[in-house]
Order: sequence, then C-alpha cells, then structure tokens
Amino acid sequence: MNDKTPLRELKGVGEKTEKLFQKIGITTAEELLRYYPRTYDIYEEPVEIASAEEDKTVSIRATIATGIYINQIRNLQILTTTVADASGRLPVAWFNAPYLRGTLKKGSVFILRGKIIRKKGRPQMEHPEIFTPAAYEEIIHSMQPVYGLTKGLSNKMITKLVHQILDTRPLHGEYLPEEIRERYQLADANYAIRTVHFPKNMQELLTARKRLVFDEFLLFVLAIQLLKEKTEEAPNTFPMKPVWTTEEIIEGLPYDLTGAQKNVWHEIERDLSGHKLMSRLVQGDVGSGKTVIAFLAMVLSAENGFQSALMVPTEVLANQHYEGFLRLMEEQNIASCHPVLLTGSTTARQKREIYQKIADGEVNVIIGTHALIQEKVEYKNLGLVITDEQHRFGVRQREALTTRGNPPHVLVMSATPIPRTLAIILYGDLDISIIDELPAKRLPIKNCVVGTSYRPKAYSFIENQVQMGRQAYVICPMVEESEGLEAENVTDYARKLQEILPGEIKVEILHGKMKPKEKNRIMEAFASGEIQVLVSTTVVEVGVNVPNATVMMVENAERFGLAQLHQLRGRVGRGEHQSYCIFIQGNNEENTSKRLKILNESNDGFYIAGEDLKLRGPGDLFGIRQSGLMEFKIGDIYNDAGILKNASEAAGEILALDFDLILPQHKALKEHLKGYMSEELENLGI
Ligand code: ADP
Ligand code: MG
Repeated sequence: MNDKTPLRELKGVGEKTEKLFQKIGITTAEELLRYYPRTYDIYEEPVEIASAEEDKTVSIRATIATGIYINQIRNLQILTTTVADASGRLPVAWFNAPYLRGTLKKGSVFILRGKIIRKKGRPQMEHPEIFTPAAYEEIIHSMQPVYGLTKGLSNKMITKLVHQILDTRPLHGEYLPEEIRERYQLADANYAIRTVHFPKNMQELLTARKRLVFDEFLLFVLAIQLLKEKTEEAPNTFPMKPVWTTEEIIEGLPYDLTGAQKNVWHEIERDLSGHKLMSRLVQGDVGSGKTVIAFLAMVLSAENGFQSALMVPTEVLANQHYEGFLRLMEEQNIASCHPVLLTGSTTARQKREIYQKIADGEVNVIIGTHALIQEKVEYKNLGLVITDEQHRFGVRQREALTTRGNPPHVLVMSATPIPRTLAIILYGDLDISIIDELPAKRLPIKNCVVGTSYRPKAYSFIENQVQMGRQAYVICPMVEESEGLEAENVTDYARKLQEILPGEIKVEILHGKMKPKEKNRIMEAFASGEIQVLVSTTVVEVGVNVPNATVMMVENAERFGLAQLHQLRGRVGRGEHQSYCIFIQGNNEENTSKRLKILNESNDGFYIAGEDLKLRGPGDLFGIRQSGLMEFKIGDIYNDAGILKNASEAAGEILALDFDLILPQHKALKEHLKGYMSEELENLGI
C-alpha cells in the first residue's frame, strides 16, 4: 500500500464511510495518518466515589445499586440509576442509550468513566463509558487517542483504520539527513507517526510529537525560503508614483493617523515606488487601524493605473471592507477607484459579469474572500494584492499569488501577536512593519471575569449602555442545544435575553450556519444600529468593526483560547466611548481562572501570548491551542518556539549547502518537500 492509497481500498471502508471521511478532509491513507489525535484519554486507577472531584473525568469502580429508570424529555431519552462503592453512592445518567438496559443489571460491578457534574445541587455522573473490570484492567494507564469527529464517524472507527494502515503500510525511508536528526535528537519518522497515534506514555508522545513538529516546521521554512528567493530579486513591474490624492485623503480623515500608521504608510509608499517588488507584512494589534492603510495603498494603485485586490477570510469582513471603501470614496470624492465585491455568495451570473469587468480593467479595486484567488480570475493588470488577517492564509495561498503571471506587490496585514524573532522565521519571505501604537483618545477596555451568577448585573449593565446609545455583543460557544454538552447556545440564549431586556431593545443572532446573505444582513443591521444586542458565535471574531459597540460579553469563556478571546475583545474599544468586556466563566477550574486572569490584567496581545505560554506545561500541548495560528497541523508556534528555531536553523544550513537539493542526502527530503508544496513548486523550478 502506498501513501496515496484511497481510503476506500482499506478493509471496512464503504461508500458511506468514505463520504464521512471526506467531510473532515480525508481521502487517502496518508491523510488519515496525518489526522493527529486532538487529545488523549488516560485511563487512570479508579477512585472512590466520595473523593472523586467534580468537573473532571474520573473512573469509579461501583456496583449498580438500584433499578434502571427511563425518562423521556422531548427527543431525549434519559436513563438513570444509582451506583455505590464502600465510600458512598452516586446517581448516573445516560442519554439516548436504551440498549444499556440489558447491560446494567442491579448488583453487577462496572468501571464507569466520566465527568461528575453538579445538577440541582447534587453531584451526578453523566454519560460515562462502561467497562467490565477485566476490560478496564487491559487499558489501565494507557493513552488512547481522541480524534476530531463528525456525526456518524466514531472514535473507534478511526482508531481501527489508523491501526490497519500502520500495520500494513511499508516503512518510509528516512528523509532527514542523519546529521540533523542527531544534532536535534529527533526520533525516527516511522516511530513518530505510529507513536503519535498510540503512545504508551507521555514521554513517548513528547518524543514522537517533537519529530513531527520539527518536520512540519522544516518543510514550511524551506518552502518559505524558496519563495523568498523567487520574490526577493523580482523587479518592480508595477512601479507606482506617490500621488496627491492619498495625502488629501489623510488630511480629510475625521482623525489624525497615529505616528505608527504614518510610518508604515510611508514604508509602503516607498516600496511601491521602488525598484523591487514589495512583499511586506504589517503587524498591528486589534484596533490599531490597519484597514485605512490598506485603503490608501489601493487608492495609490488605482491612481497609477493598476488593479488591486483585498482578500479576507470571511464574507462578513469582505462586505464590511467593501462598504467602508465605498464610504471613503464618497466622503472624499475619490474618482479614480471603481470597486467591486466578490465573495462566495456572488451568483454565478454576477461573477461572470464581474470577471469580465476585471479582465477588461473596468473595475480596479477588488474586495473579496479567497474565492478571489481560488477561482480563475483573469486580471487586466493586477499590481497589488493585500491579505487581511493573514494567519488564515497559508503557504499555498502565498504561492498562488506569486506564481500567476507577473507577480504583483504583496501586502499582508495581521493582528496576530508574534514575537519578532518568530515573525522573521514564519514570514521569512516578507519585510515586516509594525504598528505599535493605538489611536489616541482610545480609553483602555475595562475587563471583568465573573461567574454565571453575575448575569443579571451584566444584563442591566447592557441595558444601561443601550439606553446611552451604545451596542453590545454576547458570544456563546454553540449554535443550538446539543445533548450532554453544558454550554450556552446562541439560539436559546437570544430568546431568553430578549425576554429579560425591555421590548424596545432588539436582540438578534448571528452564527456560521446561517446563509452568508443572512449573515451580511444581520451584520449590516448591527453596524447601522438597528439591532442593539447581537448574540453570536465566534463568527464576529476576526476583523469586524462596529465602533459604537461597547460591551463584549463572552459566555463559557473557558471554552476559548486566550488569543481568540483577545480577538473577540478587540471587537469593542474601537471608538471614543469607554468599552467593557465581561468574561463569564462557566466552570470553577483553577487553571481556567488563572488563564482568564491574564486577560483581565492586560489588553496587550503580546503580553497575553507570552503569559499564556508560561502557564502551559508539556502536558498542556493538546489543550486549547492558540486558535490554529498559521496552517500548522501539530506545531504550535508559541509552545514549540524552540523547535521552530531549530527547524529554521536546519533549513538555513541545508539550503546554504545545497540550495537546489541535489545532493544524495537531500534526495528524499526534496521528494517530501515537493509533496508538501504540491505542483506549484514545479513553477519555482526545483
Ligand atoms: P484593525 O487594525 O483591527 O484592522 P481597523 O482598521 O478596523 O483596526 O480600525 C479600528 C477603528 O479605528 C476603525 O473604526 C477606524 O476608523 C478607527 N481608526 C483607525 N485609525 C485611527 C486613528 N488614527 N485615530 C482614530 N481612529 C482610528
Ligand atoms: Mg482589521
């Protein structure tokens, strides 16, 4: 079996299973091997009922002490019983599992593994796994992989298939030069891939993981370096002369640009008029004012007769930028620009028309989602490409831009707080500008971390703010109720909140399952003030700008990463009004409290990222990640900064010695890198 073997050829995979795997992006055996566990279950020694901690997964060894009771609530069937050991008794509940009736006989002994949750003041175990004592004995102390699932696909199924692949596939040749493996003490590649799925203990897991993270970073850095080589010497085929219009726009803005904004703008202006093509990253914390810089660059481009494109990760953001650009044009009488919006929900007919206009050069400012680069858009003379919130754009997208026709200038905007040393590695192909100053007149956001009992106060606070003319966001982790999961959901929450707040305050919902059109409509209504309170999932996390919103309330804050919470908080404090952030902590865990305290202490993205890192130990590696920064599957640029630096050093040495990777010891690596960069690399000539 080779790596590209379609899943379908594995034993036990039929059409239905194949489809389920497609849903999570897996079509081949190799892709399944690279589908790393999300976390691991460790099967610990059972504890006594009396000493079991709440809100934690524990195992107990207990006797079924009563009969089984079945309760039907709407479409949820609840099966309950009480179990006992020498230390005490505990009620247990299962959901929609009628088949357990035959198993759970009064008097029999089982190991139950699950969370103990307090319900109506009494502890109870919810939906535990059930083992016979003998079965538990076999897996005790081992680590079992837990995979990300989709409905219909069980953890067992994935585990079995991964076993099957590992047991039947031929071993890989080693592709890292021996010397590098020794120097950085890296495990064998075959060992690493097997062990990351089925480690015997934490030590093994860390060893395996280190190798996989190293590989992932190494390939990334090599790819970036090769891109850099290509772009660094590229001549400026789209030279742009500075123009008065941009100066006039800056004059006409309702605010003064900050010193940092001015500096960055001048750097960009200089790049665009220079001898070489621009490849620049603009890094600035949320709210630092990156959008206006992008707009200025697009105007400059249009004034010089070139097209420019602004790409963003979400449709809501694309819409917002488009509206913002139209407003700027109107306010400042900009005649040279002809903007157009291009997103996933643009109809096929509209798209054809727009493509035609882009090809003819009738439009010169193109704003949209990735659809822009993914589809075959022919530009007349695309001179500048800007990506906003770049951490969602990976190597492949960067490549796609640089390999099409005459490569344009590239400007990348990001709010991700990456320390400079790491940014230089991760954005090795870009020059870096930093906006390290927030606009004057901004009042620091006031934060609080509170429990759920604080809600009534929060609601009357929101009511007050709305009466003062302001608006509020409430974030819930889920879209709708989900059985067995104790977290707030947008749908029910909005209904409750609407009942609590006075009728004239309009509460609406926003979430990712809504149609894009509907999302845009809601977002526009919120931006224009028709809606005062928006109950939403994290779809508002990236880039959304409604300066009149002053309250950000986050339910179940424990469920989000700190970087994500910081992004959410960045949705307020964007105007002159005092803003507030209320983090509701839905559990009592000490670790969560510590993490949230960091947010409470500071509004500075860099500080937060650094402190977050200090709090995590190696055991935390598989906890909440920094919201999927860059496109890494297993590496975390913060936690694994050391490995990233090693990989970068190794890449530097390899390329210094053998830039084209033609030496025999680099043959396997070259093959590997090719696979990684896919066919686009061919265009780079290696
Ligand atoms: P981000 O850097 O997060 O993308 P935006 O560009 O969306 O931030 O700007 C946030 C808000 O700050 C916007 O409403 C924008 O109009 C405003 N803004 C930008 N620059 C300044 C400035 N120098 N002074 C005052 N407000 C500004
Ligand atoms: Mg932004």
